[in-house]
Amino acid sequence: MGSGQVTSSGPTDFTGRRITVAGLGVSGVPAAKVLHGLGAHVTVVNDGDDERARAQAAELEALGVTVRLGDGDTLPEGTDLVVTAPGWKPDKPLFAAAERAGVPVWGDVELAWRLRGPDAAPWLAVTGTNGKTTTVRMLAAILEAAGLHTAAVGNIGVSLLDAVTGEEKYDVLAVELSSYQLHWAPSLRAHSAAVLNLAPDHLDWHGSMAAYAADKGRVYEGNRVACVYNAADRATEDLVREADVEEGCRAVGFTLGTPAPSQLGVVEGILVDRAFVEDRHRNAQELAEVSDVRPPAPHNIANALAAAALARAFGVPAGAVRDGLRAFTPDAHRIAHVADVDGVAYVDDSKATNTHAAEASLASYDPIVWIAGGLAKGATFDDLVAGAAGRLRGVVLIGRDRALIREALARHAPQVPVVDLDRADTGAMLQAVQEAQRLARPGDTVLLAPACASMDMFTNYIRRGEAFAQAVRELGA
Ligand code: ADP
Repeated sequence: MGSGQVTSSGPTDFTGRRITVAGLGVSGVPAAKVLHGLGAHVTVVNDGDDERARAQAAELEALGVTVRLGDGDTLPEGTDLVVTAPGWKPDKPLFAAAERAGVPVWGDVELAWRLRGPDAAPWLAVTGTNGKTTTVRMLAAILEAAGLHTAAVGNIGVSLLDAVTGEEKYDVLAVELSSYQLHWAPSLRAHSAAVLNLAPDHLDWHGSMAAYAADKGRVYEGNRVACVYNAADRATEDLVREADVEEGCRAVGFTLGTPAPSQLGVVEGILVDRAFVEDRHRNAQELAEVSDVRPPAPHNIANALAAAALARAFGVPAGAVRDGLRAFTPDAHRIAHVADVDGVAYVDDSKATNTHAAEASLASYDPIVWIAGGLAKGATFDDLVAGAAGRLRGVVLIGRDRALIREALARHAPQVPVVDLDRADTGAMLQAVQEAQRLARPGDTVLLAPACASMDMFTNYIRRGEAFAQAVRELGA
């Protein structure tokens, strides 16, 4: 064990500490730089030894940081603290070595949390299997509409480390947190937090559904004002019950139905708040209209309600919720309307990379010609297909694991016509869209919601969505 072990909570003195940063890349390089700048002796360990890693290593070494490429498993002698990239699996030998040596392990979020200054902005945190980015961006738009200086922080926009160490002084931060990040963030204490939903995902990393849920549940630990849960998803409410929160912190639900006291919900096309109002047993506050939410798909209204709940927990007035939702522009490839061609709508939800996300978008349209397939990541498709069967005009399957979806369709929707495309070249998406056009009738929606990852055919979901949009433009040309 190193002599000056880092264990304290709150702002920490890193001078002279021997810190091992596990993993180069988007979080490791900035973490190494910041810690080096704070006077720590930093060693970066990295599994890979490719060209990119060498370039990053050279940049860090020029500053005086030690970098060991090709060995991410050995804990450097004398390490006081490990700061890991969030994606590193907890069963890696490096962490067992750290545990044996009594060395704490922090992720990028824990580091950012510890680096906050004394009058740092409070965090409004969002996690969940799907909808995080959308909700955080809606939340930031609402906070801005209330005149607060804020940023959407996490996977998009400003990095957490920049947000807490940069010049900019924020009133409040809207923070997106993944289950990996939460796993490595033991002392994080948000002002208020929301778990949007909980469906099996990343189980290979966490080891089990229980471990995945427990990591998500950490977002509620120590909340001061509100733990926001999804009333339609019991698991999220259970996590609130299990959390250890500050005295007076409230459980606040969101629902697409009429809200009970201490909930936000929807009444006759209006988003209403029965949580942050005087006398919530008798009163409700109108926040916005459903049509202020873009797109007004059910799962997206749920996201808007969760964002509104967090903003209201922070004291934002009702009018700012409406103005913020109106000002919000959805990110690309998330149920984005591409075009109408011959009375058929073409919708790009390439970001639906798992079945839970695809289920939400399939529930938003009727009738649908569904374009699906790709890398299944161990998922099964029976529930998804059975739930959507009644709305499917037809299906076009692409990608490596498409047989899994075809078999589920044969079991649960045998009447639905299926086109199975056995090609992965650059023309595949155009053919998929042409086949979908043939199946569609005026009034239908052709929906790209693959329920699978894209990397068998595309660089990422963005390229897949762009290929779809390009193909739709060619139809209309
Ligand atoms: P994340 O950041 O959690 O990946 P995004 O906002 O980027 O979430 O949305 C990812 C995908 O999940 C999109 O395809 C979208 O259609 C779907 N989605 C968004 N919100 C929800 C929700 N509340 N429930 C289920 N699916 C959702």
